[in-house]
Order: sequence, then structure tokens, then C-alpha cells
Amino acid sequence: MSRFFSEEYADLDPYTPGEQPRDGVYIKLNTNESPFPPHPAVTEAVERESRRLHLYSDPESRELREALSAATGLKPEELMATNGSDEALFFAFLAFCSRHTPAVFADITYGFYPVFAQSARVPFREIPLKADLTLDPADYYHAGGTVFIANPNAPTGLALGRKEIEGILERNPYTICVVDEAYVDFGAESCLPLIREHDNLLVVQTFSKSRSLAGGRLGFAAGNPDLIQDLNTIRYAVHPYSVNRMTAAAGIACLAQEKYTQENCRTIQKNREWAAGALRRLGFILTDSRTNFLFARHPAVDGETLYRKLREKRILIRHFSAERIRDYNRITVGSRAEMEKLVAAAEAILKESR
Ligand code: PMP
Repeated sequence: MSRFFSEEYADLDPYTPGEQPRDGVYIKLNTNESPFPPHPAVTEAVERESRRLHLYSDPESRELREALSAATGLKPEELMATNGSDEALFFAFLAFCSRHTPAVFADITYGFYPVFAQSARVPFREIPLKADLTLDPADYYHAGGTVFIANPNAPTGLALGRKEIEGILERNPYTICVVDEAYVDFGAESCLPLIREHDNLLVVQTFSKSRSLAGGRLGFAAGNPDLIQDLNTIRYAVHPYSVNRMTAAAGIACLAQEKYTQENCRTIQKNREWAAGALRRLGFILTDSRTNFLFARHPAVDGETLYRKLREKRILIRHFSAERIRDYNRITVGSRAEMEKLVAAAEAILKESR
């Protein structure tokens, strides 16, 4: 830290992104990216748009929001495009939490939530997941703050049904509930249809996972127009042009290729079920993941060792040091060939350690 760094942020404990290795080729199953490249129509749209890079992007992302409106059935004023869903989440911490309205979220969930709370200078309260890592909706009734729920949750992969989220919304009429649906396309129920009935619901989605655009940085928030306006107040105070021209063009082109997106999601789900079955046969214990990753532990090898030994075999997965989940690893579901290599490598590691 330089001697000039603000004392306001001296205690900040920033987010640790998954490693992006530079020492050669790895099978990368550590950051929940899609194994599928964007559709060729998306790369063509980006190339076309790059010819207009001398002009600022539209801070309102009107064309993109029209396309999102057609895709979701919501009105453009119920939607806001952001630089990844991380930006939508951070804006929500800034807009809807305060000294008197803490952020409330699970103890085991997306690791950026406590960091966003710290950066936004708002208090937060963590609610422990149950021993089996499931989330009890009743723990969030009358939460006394702004609730953030990743649904499906990360890194557990477990999902609540729409009805259960609705129960939480109904019992928090005076506070917002933000539902982070980064992984919803891989087999969970979206809460987008609840937006018209619940003015305290904000849904956040991303193009990073099911839509193969992690590097493009595109997400969106959906909620009633007043909430979206609040988020825009924050946006215009921080970063009006955060969705650049090429990313907006990529998003529009991507929404026109829904069949490609859905086929890829189905393939990921198939690969997930295949890999989960193969790992279970090797003695792994897995959660019932509704996402593009598996959350797995093995009674005979601890999480850190498995992570390290797979890394030696040039396969990257994600290990977390938090006490409750240190036995586990999070494994992104890649192509079938990648999952076969993962299973073979895990089998070899288990044999060596016997
Ligand atoms: N929410 C959850 C639960 C995530 O795992 C991630 C991915 N790191 C995000 C949000 C943010 O993704 P992005 O900013 O790429 O949209």
C-alpha cells in the first residue's frame, strides 16, 4: 500500500478472482466460463461495431434494452444493462443499502457480496446456510435489510423454487430482495415473472455464463421502473458509459441466437449429469447442482490436495479456504472431453493417495 492510499479503504479485503494462468495450457474449470465460443453472428456484430469506436456508446443502451425487452417480456424501463452483473450488484449495494438498511446474505454465497458491502460502506449480516448447505427461506423472513440471494447459489449450486423466493418477498414488504440469477439458465426457475407483482424485487442476470460472453462484460438488472431509476441515479454518478459499443452489439446479436444459447445450456446440463455420475462412482459427494459447475468433496482426499494435484495435471478447479467448505471444490462443467479428462485425473489421484 502506498502512503497515499486512502485510510477510508485501508481495511478493504478485495475479491480474489479465479486464477488466469500464464504458464502454459490448462483445462480451465475454475471460473465458470462457457466452453463454447460466442455464435459467429456475435463476433461479426462486434467487428462491425468496432468501426464506430470513435463515438461514445449510448449510456442508456436503448437498442440493447429493446432486445432484452423482446426476450424477457419486460418493458425497456424495467431493464438496465450493466458492465457484467457485478456492476448491477454493486449499484444495488450503493442504491438500496445504508447504515440503517444492512445487506443480508448467506454465509456461503458469492464472495463478492461482502466486498461490495465494504466498498459501499454499508454493514452486512450473514445468515448461515443449514448444515447440508441448503438455504432455509424462513431465515430471510423479516430480514431487516436488503436481501441478496444468489439463485442458484454459488458455490453450492443449490436452487430455491420461485414460490420460496416469493415467500421471502412477501415477508419483507419494506425492503428490497435482490435475486442474483447468474446461473439460472442451467436448470432453475427465474423470478423475472414476479417483477410486476413485487415492487421490492430486483433480478440480476448475466451474459457471462449461458451466453458465452464473460469477456464482453454484460449483465442486466430487472425490476419496477422506480428501482431501475434509482440504479440509473447511481450509474450516472459513477460510470454512464460502462456498457461499451462492442459489448452492446454483442448482446443484441447474442439475443438473436437464442437457439444456440439453449442448445449450449442443454449440452452443459448433459455434461454436468455425466460428470456428476462418474464422480459419484469414484466416491465423491456432490450437491444437486442446478448450475454450470459441480460442488464436490471426497472423503479420502481433502479439497486443497485435490485442487493442487489436479493443477499439477494441468486441470484448474476452484478451491475455497472458508472453513465450512474447505473440503469441497467447485468444478466448472466444460465440454464432454474436458470432463472425461477431469474424471480420469481424479481417479488417478485417488489411486495414488490410497
Ligand atoms: N453472481 C454470481 C453468483 C457469480 O458467480 C458471478 C460470477 N463471478 C457473478 C454474479 C458476476 O458475473 P459477471 O460480472 O461476469 O456477470
